[in-house]
Amino acid sequence: MKLTAKILWGILLGLIVGLVLNFYFPDVFKPVNEYLFTPVGNLFLKAIKMIVVPLVFFSIAVGASGIADPKKLGRVGVKTVILYLATTAIAITIALGLANIIGPGKGVVVEKPKEALDIDEAPPVMETLLNIVPDNPINAMAEGNMLQVIFFALVFGIAMAFLGSKVNRVREFAEQANEVMMYMVQMLMKTVPYAAFALMAKAVGEAGLGMIGSMGLYMVTLLLALLLHMILVYGSLLKFVAKISPFQFYKKLFPAMEVAFTTGSSAAALPVTIECAEKGLKVPKSISSFVLPLGATINMDGTAIMQGVAAIFIAQLYGIPLTFGDQLLIILTATLASIGTAAVPSAGIVMLTIVFPTVGLPLEGLGIILGVDRLLDMSRTATNITGDAMVATIVAKTEGETVGVEEQAQTA
Ligand code: ASP
Repeated sequence: MKLTAKILWGILLGLIVGLVLNFYFPDVFKPVNEYLFTPVGNLFLKAIKMIVVPLVFFSIAVGASGIADPKKLGRVGVKTVILYLATTAIAITIALGLANIIGPGKGVVVEKPKEALDIDEAPPVMETLLNIVPDNPINAMAEGNMLQVIFFALVFGIAMAFLGSKVNRVREFAEQANEVMMYMVQMLMKTVPYAAFALMAKAVGEAGLGMIGSMGLYMVTLLLALLLHMILVYGSLLKFVAKISPFQFYKKLFPAMEVAFTTGSSAAALPVTIECAEKGLKVPKSISSFVLPLGATINMDGTAIMQGVAAIFIAQLYGIPLTFGDQLLIILTATLASIGTAAVPSAGIVMLTIVFPTVGLPLEGLGIILGVDRLLDMSRTATNITGDAMVATIVAKTEGETVGVEEQAQTA
């Protein structure tokens, strides 16, 4: 059976088992939950935590060593990185706004896990900002302080880039280590059907029918945010800056979006994204060959949107209030976390381990998100590559290239 089908079965069975236990056998649920659902779920969460530090370090170091290639830096590089960061921050803002308005996690109360109590109080924003620079990178890794790990990885990658061929062996090592870590994510993903079953049965068994409604609403909120971002933000940038019709853009990019959707991996879709951008959107090779691979690695608006909606959803479920400062912190951490997300299926979920603790949300919340993530992963990956192609088009246009199907040509 294909993995996606297996995951869907896992979710469905978990849902049924959870509901049946919740309705008819609440006494049976307790031991089954304690000895089966919770340990299986926790095992999965532990495996994620095991992978995340080296994964983030190598993925960012390798990505950054590409950004700062002195030959590529220049105007195009700066423009690209600014556009990538700005659109990602806007994406999360839309996600937060929508999740606050819709409130997918409101009305259902999930008990806070006891271990979460000690991280309940998130530190003030300023402290978190200063804390991004680690005193000791090894310590940061040992403690799993992800913002510090990201910072060190960025500096390491940029230094590697400036040293160029002198440090070829280190770069090669980092690239290969990155591949190993990505493979480990894929290995972990094979266990998702079982984890999804256990986590779903646990969540629904504990909270009952209301939980299914909440999860549904979470999915709707997330899909809506993805759609809004693609229509409003990408649409207006394309129309007003690149001066091309968004419809034409989407039509030309459609094959790449399809591959991204079905594979759930920006990296797997990259060759098709490049082809669509060059042939369909007329982005010159000199720009697409830099902007698109970089984008597939660091620009993930869809992933950032998921992280924003997920944070608000889990906070609402556990009844943890998030201040305005907390929400700003989410924008910051989710931007960084999305940069560090590997372009493979479900990697965005792994990166929630960065976002949640910074605002005092329990990692157990991941279990609830994971249960329904498959379809959402596919959808956000399509958004991710759309953002890359959009930025490539804008950069090409502002560099004086004739991109896409010009609007005048269309109306003529
Ligand atoms: N699957 C996404 C991608 O490759 C990453 C994620 O899980 O959010 O773009």
